Amino acid sequence: PRSTLFPYTTLFRSPPVTMGRKPIVGGNWKCNPAETAKLDELVANFAPCAELLDKCDVYVCPSNLHVGMIYQKFAPGIMVAPQNCNFKGCGAYTGEMAVDQMKDMGLKCCLIGHSERRGEFGLPTPKESNELMATKLAYILEKGLMCVFCIGEPLPIREKGIDAVLAECVSQLKDIVPILKALEDKSRVVIAYEPVWAIGTGVTASPEQAQETHKAIRDWIAANVDQKTADEIRIQYGGSANAGNAGALSAMPDIDGFLVGGASLQPEFPEIVKAIVAARSGSAEGVSSGRSEERRVGKECRSRWS
Ligand code: PEP
Repeated sequence: PRSTLFPYTTLFRSPPVTMGRKPIVGGNWKCNPAETAKLDELVANFAPCAELLDKCDVYVCPSNLHVGMIYQKFAPGIMVAPQNCNFKGCGAYTGEMAVDQMKDMGLKCCLIGHSERRGEFGLPTPKESNELMATKLAYILEKGLMCVFCIGEPLPIREKGIDAVLAECVSQLKDIVPILKALEDKSRVVIAYEPVWAIGTGVTASPEQAQETHKAIRDWIAANVDQKTADEIRIQYGGSANAGNAGALSAMPDIDGFLVGGASLQPEFPEIVKAIVAARSGSAEGVSSGRSEERRVGKECRSRWS
């Protein structure tokens, strides 16, 4: 059996065993920027990702109001993924966005279930339920798009330990089990595991903590969906991911990429993509784990033995 924790501090970085899953990194701009004048700069931040697309899928979630203005401005292959969709299609759904409209625009991906839509707004708006998420997911897949499906636990649950965390994640996943079972191409659903306490707080889950949770989710999928889905579905980590911590997180075998909020509005975003590409190729280059000494020594050792 695979070991629970990959020793990311090892000097000889060999790629983690990931069953050939292609990494995926997304940027969630949420309700930003305030001025449309800033959009060109934010789009330009993504440009360096274009040359990494054969090794890592990249998507961006601009604010709903801005999607139509900029979806054609990104390099081909960078997917524009709206931050939500309705559950049905076009028609009398004021304030909503239909997947049919996204499909017509050539969009390939849609994100749903962000914790800020599942009741973390701090406003007395109704939470989007797990049942609604399953309806939306089925609709997105039926229209031929892929889906980033966000889940995650709030702090009081994290404080109870991994069993409580898994139970919470399972409560958000169980309604989509039949959908995952029926799905042929498992890469069309990406689970974004985002601990709520890490989102926008600057507090990142440690690599070991994130790996333990990702593995628990994957094991649960193996037992409750099937092994193929567990092996092939990608699970992203989200929660204060940035260029500084992406290297260490990327070395974890069950972390298949990142959903990035704040840092996706910064020029560092491509560094996060580079970090997971480097980790998957077994190269320490571009892995900004803050362990420069370790990288230097590792490099010297490798050249001595090659
Ligand atoms: C997010 O919005 O999904 C997110 C992870 O935000 P941040 O990276 O800012 O924590």
